[in-house]
Amino acid sequence: MSEVMSHNHEPQPPKPPIDFARLAVPGVRELAPYQPGKPIEELRREYGVSRVIKLASNENPLGPSPKAAQAASEVLGEVHRYPDGNGFSLKAAIAGHHDLGVEQITLGNGSNDVLALIAQAFLGPGRCSLFSAHAFAVYPLVTQAAGAEARVVPALGSEAAQPYGHDLKAMAEALDEGVSVVFIANPNNPTGTWVSEPELREFLAAVPPQVVTVVDEAYFEYAASEPGYPDVSRWLADYPNLVVTRSFSKVHGLGGLRVGYALSHPQIADLLNRVRQPFNCSAPAQAAAAASLVDHEHIERSVALNREQREVLAKGLYELGLSVLPSIGNFLTFSAGPHAAQINDGLLRSGVIVRPVDAYELPGYIRVTVGTPAENRAFLSALAEQLEQWDGRSERLP
Ligand SMILES: *Cc1c(COP(=O)(O)O)cnc(C)c1O
Repeated sequence: MSEVMSHNHEPQPPKPPIDFARLAVPGVRELAPYQPGKPIEELRREYGVSRVIKLASNENPLGPSPKAAQAASEVLGEVHRYPDGNGFSLKAAIAGHHDLGVEQITLGNGSNDVLALIAQAFLGPGRCSLFSAHAFAVYPLVTQAAGAEARVVPALGSEAAQPYGHDLKAMAEALDEGVSVVFIANPNNPTGTWVSEPELREFLAAVPPQVVTVVDEAYFEYAASEPGYPDVSRWLADYPNLVVTRSFSKVHGLGGLRVGYALSHPQIADLLNRVRQPFNCSAPAQAAAAASLVDHEHIERSVALNREQREVLAKGLYELGLSVLPSIGNFLTFSAGPHAAQINDGLLRSGVIVRPVDAYELPGYIRVTVGTPAENRAFLSALAEQLEQWDGRSERLP
């Protein structure tokens, strides 16, 4: 058939190749995609290891609440129907949980989706977002994708009580008319550092009312018992330009279902809901999230395990002679030294997935999620082996 076709057509001069990147809008052209933690199956395929321990994405090692899994499976027979685009039941559960109105809630396909909605609604060419160095990677991504400019404020120093944490005083000084959105992660990922109630109140008082200020509380439940750690969801009446984001991916163990939300002034929620895809939150995700929200026992168990095992893990890292950033999340970030890349590769070969955070301008640092006791032991022993191999561990010990 190709012969017949070619007889009927004059030979065409070769077309110049298309530079596809130039077809994209400027923000997208320069964008580097988010690097997720390596999936377990990918490690099995690439390295041929059978036993895999994944401590790379700050997931709950206990998994989801059994009640959440049950609720999700109960709606699977009905998934030929579109989900409730207004998320009536889930929003009612969230509103009850926070003692806020349903009109203050925006549901997201994970809280990353909510961050993207905020960028879509409030950022664009000629506008700026402001956030700290070493802050969560999604803030620069959504800023750039919206065609806006990121203003990155230098973080606190390595010797500060919150090493590499947000410098709220410097952030307040960097505010000007160009800034439309501020992102604050509390605690921050990957540093694990946090800002206290008085510091945050002082900062919010300095923010002009036209600047939307996002406090990302993805790790809220893990951090909540820390003295001085603020629950900013209670401050919405004081600061109408405040947006608080929460996630079901961390302590709730529902990262695979994708659900998160924003709490805000009803008029901010109205704007976010204008750009939100109507069915961004699936029916199983909504059902699971609503069930998880009221399974207090599962949350408490998860938080208690994390508190205990974070100590164990930190102690193990100190004993290996490593410097560890203080963290109130479900992860620890430590300096793996000059051979961090080789050490990470060696860990992968032994079936342990952690997260190098060089991309966060923390060269040589690795983030590890707090796992079960067995996972943490396996990680520490694999790490000890790698340190021995690359750094000669005897030199590091006092
Ligand atoms: C994990 C994380 C999120 C949550 O992402 P989801 O989209 O809800 O899975 C948000 N912010 C920070 C700082 C995180 O570490």
